[in-house]
Amino acid sequence: MIPVTKPFMPPLEEYQKLLQGVWEREHLTNNGPLVQELEQKLQDYLGVKNLLYLSNGTIALQIAIKALDLKGEIITTPFSYVATTSSIVWEGCTPVFVDIDLETLNLNPALIEEAITDSTTGILATHVFGNPCDIDAIQAIADKHGLKVIYDAAHCFGTKYKGKSVFSYGDVSTTSFHATKLFHTIEGGAVFTNDEDLQYRMSRMRNFGHAGPEHFDGVGINGKNSEFHAAMGLTNLNYIEDILQSRKEQCLRYDELLKGLIVRSIAVQEASCWNYSYYPIILESEEVALRVKKALEKNDIFPRRYFYPSLDTLGYVETEALKVSKDISRRILCLPLYVDLVKAQQQKIVEIIETNLIK
Ligand SMILES: *Cc1c(COP(=O)(O)O)cnc(C)c1O
Repeated sequence: MIPVTKPFMPPLEEYQKLLQGVWEREHLTNNGPLVQELEQKLQDYLGVKNLLYLSNGTIALQIAIKALDLKGEIITTPFSYVATTSSIVWEGCTPVFVDIDLETLNLNPALIEEAITDSTTGILATHVFGNPCDIDAIQAIADKHGLKVIYDAAHCFGTKYKGKSVFSYGDVSTTSFHATKLFHTIEGGAVFTNDEDLQYRMSRMRNFGHAGPEHFDGVGINGKNSEFHAAMGLTNLNYIEDILQSRKEQCLRYDELLKGLIVRSIAVQEASCWNYSYYPIILESEEVALRVKKALEKNDIFPRRYFYPSLDTLGYVETEALKVSKDISRRILCLPLYVDLVKAQQQKIVEIIETNLIK
């Protein structure tokens, strides 16, 4: 079976070695030494100042919205994972969808201004498939209208924009370290900010608002992560260069194999260094996409319709249909991509795609 992705599994002995220390200390969670070590090592690796390690990428979004005190309407993308929209609704705000760019599949900055009203307080954009948004254009609009910017950078481990980690942009960036992501800690996530005051508030929020054993500073939630998750992160971090390199090689190989066929992938944002975290293909029509998917599945190969459906179709949001997002979501497939995937498998995948493009 060839799934769309597989979690990276480090050597078990290396993970166990870290667990040995956990057993000795009997410190399982609550900002333990492995959590602190992971935060430090990730900051060093990514070249970012403030990283707060959290239990997942969804709580990261919720904490970001809460810490920035966003109210009313938040402009966002319909082409993302459901957590981007659900977090806005969960925090009592209203998502206002703006359509995506046809080439990058990211929020289209040219359409943002016409969606701004007196109730708009922020923009929550996703760097889709690890490909940065047009960050400069979005920031210029936010500055002009006094809006806060959050980036859902769940796909972005290793991506750079203008030479810096893409996590260092926006008022807050969030990410996910879920098992299906390029770098993972089984479950996990993080928030990033350059604002020390915001960093302080989010660190309190992560831990019920505790500012001491008997003192609380603002409302909080439980967004902490455990020593076991941090141990997985520390172990996986030793292999991050191999993971990034294999993703890149596989994506370039798909590019090569698919050359000349009637499919396209995404356009990478200018001035950025992409992490090759997903390999989406956009087919001619939904009919072709479903035919290709079915043919692959018959061969025990499981691509994924990602993202599908477009988030403006969720039952708990009110909006007009977003044309580009709706169209793309119907005819996009993410192809298998993971460390152990070999060339012969990629060749077979592309052969099946090729023979099913035309009926
Ligand atoms: C995975 C993902 C999330 C959610 O992260 P979790 O760690 O699973 O909670 C949010 N947004 C996007 C775009 C994602 O891909």
